[in-house]
Amino acid sequence: MDKQFEEWHTEIMQQIHAAQTLSELQSLRSHWLGRRGIITLAMKGLSSLSIEERRSQGQQLNALRETVLDLLTSRQQEMEMAEETTQLQREQFDMTLPGSWPQTGLLHPITRTRRFIEDVFLRMGFSLEYGPEIEHEWYNFEALNMPANHPARDMQDSFFINVPGMVLRTHTSPVQIRAMKKYQGRLPVRIIAPGRAFRRDDDATHVPMFFQVEGLVIDHGITLADLKGTLTTMAQELLGTDIRTRFRPSYFPFTEPSVEMDVTCASCGGTGCRVCKGTGWVEILGSGMVHPVVLTNGGYDPSQVSGFAFGLGIERLAMRIFGIDDLRLLYQNDMQFLSQFQSYIGRPIL
Ligand SMILES: [Zn+2]
Repeated sequence: MDKQFEEWHTEIMQQIHAAQTLSELQSLRSHWLGRRGIITLAMKGLSSLSIEERRSQGQQLNALRETVLDLLTSRQQEMEMAEETTQLQREQFDMTLPGSWPQTGLLHPITRTRRFIEDVFLRMGFSLEYGPEIEHEWYNFEALNMPANHPARDMQDSFFINVPGMVLRTHTSPVQIRAMKKYQGRLPVRIIAPGRAFRRDDDATHVPMFFQVEGLVIDHGITLADLKGTLTTMAQELLGTDIRTRFRPSYFPFTEPSVEMDVTCASCGGTGCRVCKGTGWVEILGSGMVHPVVLTNGGYDPSQVSGFAFGLGIERLAMRIFGIDDLRLLYQNDMQFLSQFQSYIGRPIL
């Protein structure tokens, strides 16, 4: 090989080897092989040579050109692979990281509390009953021993509608009458009736639409002891086995005697604080032995059977279970507020 060509060959080898980037390789390519590249020009200059020199140098130049092309190509591939590897390393992800979860919905605290109450009573052998939210006055009042002129009606400021004799039920108690009529004298009656009720109230502890669970048990020989046992079991299932209950005499037209059940205050555990007004107790439900008039209206003979009934507000229990201090928060549909109960683990997620 001519000395000139050998020098070029060495120079090219060094340059290609030293190149660090694809653009450097590109410059080398045009420097040697481009339209005005060194090898290209040398090939053009062959025409001025004798035939023998032209053949000899032409072959050498062609060989050199092939070598340069091969080197450039393989170096380029090398660089591209290196770049890909670097990129893969840069973009590698940790498969042990937790995945990103889609936001899932969850049931409202009131729904969860209602299901929790239902679960407790279903396990005690109760069954579920439902009644209409627009109710006959007879079922809502008269049948429950509240005639039209009865002062107890004042305790339940009612929504009447434009259909005479109909009312948005002020409590779930009319389902007691409906259940008794459905059972037609059969025993035992052992039902709970969850649902909405409506009253003209609106403040920090009352809303115009609220949820109640009604309970009714009728059989031979049912006593106040059955009432106390059942409701204390319920309270301990819902609020914890360390909870204590007490029963205070009260008045409801549809029960006689009537009692209200208190549970130990969640804030102070029973020693007395601001929440419980220093008493250590918080009221959670009203109950009593079913009034003979109510039994009769339901088709049962009060001289043969007896029973107890209760009604509890789901909101109040939900506030206690979930630690919510304002009833109205439950009805504002504020996702930020509601989603904080996502990871609530104090009770089974129902
Ligand atoms: Zn307290």
